[in-house]
Amino acid sequence: MQRMLIRFQQFMAGRHGLDQLTVALLCVSLFSNLMLGLTRWIWWYPLELAALALAVFRTLSRNHPKRWAENQKFLSLWNPFRQKCRRLWIDLKQKTLSFSASMEDKRTHRHFQCPQCGQKIRVPKGRGKIIITCPRCRHEFQKKT
Ligand SMILES: [Zn+2]
Repeated sequence: MQRMLIRFQQFMAGRHGLDQLTVALLCVSLFSNLMLGLTRWIWWYPLELAALALAVFRTLSRNHPKRWAENQKFLSLWNPFRQKCRRLWIDLKQKTLSFSASMEDKRTHRHFQCPQCGQKIRVPKGRGKIIITCPRCRHEFQKKT
């Protein structure tokens, strides 16, 4: 076992090894494998094999500058895309959060508008008929909450 490990290390010495592009290729290969099972579309198969072959080739390659340049190019395309995805995700999370907060607010509060100046007023629910005093213009009006 030990000898096999040393052999493997000798075999890998000087080779490019894993980088982000290779990991991405492995993901593409895995994804194609999954899609092949799901869709039965035959063209996933060559894609899976091609991505896998390219990943193995890049890992074992001794041409570092070329592989490095490929990886840099990949990263320059991938990073903006990833940032966009992350921003979209954060946006979506915030929207869901503020939506559920506003739903919660609708359950516990009612919103009125001052008939005189249009100021929005938030009042807790379940107080029956109350006199609301507008905080802006001091106009008083009666509402049921
Ligand atoms: Zn008012």
